[in-house]
Parts: sequence; C-alpha cells; structure tokens
Amino acid sequence: MTNSETLFEQAQKYIPGGVNSPVRAFRGVGGTPLFFKHAEGAYLYDEDGQRYIDYIGSWGPMILGHSDQRIKDALHAQVDLGVGYGAPTSLETDMARKVCELVPSIELVRMVNSGTEATMSAIRLARGYTGRDKIVKFEGCYHGHVDSLLVKAGSGALTLGVPNSPGIPGSLAELTLTLDFNDIDGVRETFKEMGDQIAAIIVEPVAGNMNCIPAVPGFLEALREVCDEHGTVLIFDEVMSGFRVALGGAQELYGVTPDLTALGKVIGGGLPVGAFGGKREIMEHIAPLGPVYQAGTLSGNPLAMSAGLATLNAISEPGFHDRLTKKTVALRDGLKAAADATGIPLAVQGAGAMFGFFFTEEPSITRFDQVMDCDTERFKKFFQGMLKEGVYLAPSAFEAGFTSAALTDEDIADTIKAAKKVMATL
Ligand code: PMP
Repeated sequence: MTNSETLFEQAQKYIPGGVNSPVRAFRGVGGTPLFFKHAEGAYLYDEDGQRYIDYIGSWGPMILGHSDQRIKDALHAQVDLGVGYGAPTSLETDMARKVCELVPSIELVRMVNSGTEATMSAIRLARGYTGRDKIVKFEGCYHGHVDSLLVKAGSGALTLGVPNSPGIPGSLAELTLTLDFNDIDGVRETFKEMGDQIAAIIVEPVAGNMNCIPAVPGFLEALREVCDEHGTVLIFDEVMSGFRVALGGAQELYGVTPDLTALGKVIGGGLPVGAFGGKREIMEHIAPLGPVYQAGTLSGNPLAMSAGLATLNAISEPGFHDRLTKKTVALRDGLKAAADATGIPLAVQGAGAMFGFFFTEEPSITRFDQVMDCDTERFKKFFQGMLKEGVYLAPSAFEAGFTSAALTDEDIADTIKAAKKVMATL
C-alpha cells in the first residue's frame, strides 16, 4: 500500500468520504486521492515522495505558484502581530482599495471567507435591493453550495451526479430559473415573459465548473442589456476568473460591467477568503448601512488579508497576465498538437490562465449538452496516465485547469511530452 492509500483509509474513518470537499475523493476518475505533504513553485509533493507538476493550484488561488516568498513573508510578519482581532484593521482598507482599483465594477466591497459566502450574499443583496425573489442561473455553472444555487449545478455536484442536491426546499429551488449557458435567445424569451420578477442573473463569465467554456461573443452583452431593460441585477461570479483571466477579471477582458461581482480564490492568496462588491448604490443596502443582513466572525481576517494583498500586489506587476496567458496558450497549443499527432480528437480552449480540454470530435465546446457528450471514460484514462507521468490535473472532466507563474517553459514541454505519450495509449 502507498502512504496515500493508508492515509485515505484512516481519513475515511473520521471524515465523510475521507475528504473535506467532494471532488478531492477522485470519484470522477477512480483510484485513491493523493495526500500531499508540501508544495513549492509549480510542484506538489505527495506523501510517497513523488513530485507532480500542478495544474490545479489549490483550485485557483495559487496563481503565483506554491510557497511564494512574498506571501510567506507577509504571513510571517502578521503572525507576529496577532492572527485576528475581530475589529477593523488598516489591512482591510488596503485590500478594499486595491480591489476597487483593479475590478472595473466595484465601488464598495465586503470581505467574506469563501466563494460560497460571496455568491450567497450577492444573491441576498440583489433580492433585498430589488424586492424580487426569482433568480436566473445557467446549467452547469457552479456558484458554491448555496441552497438557491445548487440547482442544475456544475463542479463536484455534476461529477457526483447530484446537480440538484437533496436538502434544498422545493419552494426555494423553484425560485431559481435555470437557462442554457451561451443561449442569448433563451435569456431574452425568459425575460420577455417574467423579467420584472427576476432579482438577478448570476453567471460565470468564463464557465469553469463544466470544464472550461468562455462566454461566446455577445452573450455577456445580452445579459447586460436584459438586466438594464428589466431592472435586474447582473452578478458576475468571478470567484474563478477574477484576477486570473485578466488583472481586472473577465469584466475587464470582455468589457462588460456587472452590477455586482463575487470574488474568491486568488483574492486570498491560498487562505480562506471571498468578497462581493459592486455599485455603491446597491452595496449601500448591506448592513450596517442598509437592512440586508450579512456578517462574519473571521471576515477580513488579517492573515487572510496579508496573503491576499501580497498576491494582488504581485500580480499587478506590468505584464504579469500577458506572460501567464502566453504560457497557458503554449500549453493549450501543445496539448492540441499532441492529440493531433496521436489521432485523438480533442478540443482545447480557455481564457487567460484558465484552460480546458475535451475529448470530442467538435472543434470547440460552447454549450452544456456538448460537454455531456464528451468522452469521460477517455478522460479518466488520460488523467490516470498523466498522474503516473507526474502531472496533476483536475480529477474530473467537469473542471477547468489553472496555470501559475511558477510554471517554466520546461514544465510545459514536459507536460506536453507526457500528454503525447499517454494519448498514444488511449
Ligand atoms: N463560484 C465559482 C465560480 C467557483 O468556481 C467556486 C468554487 N470552485 C465557488 C463559487 C465557491 O467557492 P468556495 O468553494 O470558496 O466556496
């Protein structure tokens, strides 16, 4: 037995499924999840001493790579000052100022502790602000495990075959209208029928929880238009895309400005952080300024703010995202070339430092039903083959991949070489 296998057995005695978040259990790919001991730069090291090139990056936060010295220094300095006070600190203002500077739509921002809290609070705020109950989401998009949003959800919910989780009252779920991602006509029709009852549209502008599907040209613009026509709040869930597809997120990349934005992952530099923010007029409805209640014992925690700010400062260096996007495109092109060379039909796509690959004959994937038609069995074999070659990909065909600034050209060349070798066996 490997050390990971032993540790997984022990974990299952005390933790449901042995994991604290379902996708980690490798249910989407089979086999035993790896247990990790340490991480440095672009590499993860497991409990059996194996090294892996990491394309998950803690599911997005580690955009600089692991154990970056700037983050470690910021954390060490704060540990000596105290790990939390439950009272205001100047760090929170520094963080809020930075977020407002970087993200086009954000005039006021509130820190929370996860992406789930960010979307949950944004939805409550949109409902409180508009006085409406219905919300629109898109099938295959995942916005955290919020009751109202675990309807036809992506990510682990999709991997485990439970896109509609039990435990959510029907009376709440029926207020969530689920439409097709990238289907402009479907959105227009729904709004024609009941637009004045809809509090918010929430969307991942680059869908990263049903593999990786960027919005098609015109889709986000159409969402902006119908929201303006009907007084509906447009929420971009940029938990994944924020600070990653561009410094200012997908809203900067695509030039469409939402009313509210949910953030997470990169904003915490690896610590548990989320945030939601947006138009001053809407954000002023949040307590203590307004009546919509939202709070958090650990929100704005100084350790989390220190790691997050150090990350945002590092990625603000000129050219950071251009360089990272170039690396990601080299990886995407290399994977496609490896597939072509071995005769494996593969579509590769992405935005900025997010990427996805699909085992399909289609040249590109823009819709959820196309994702469901891809060859997941082939994905599983590819995943396991890559793992043996020392490449750690997301253990599900329904997750985006993430790159980090720590990846070298050699790492990418090694990954492509491994992909070609594994594809030849599929
Ligand atoms: N929104 C999106 C787009 C996400 O990808 C995720 C998590 N992968 C969440 C929200 C939820 O964030 P968290 O897991 O931090 O609660």
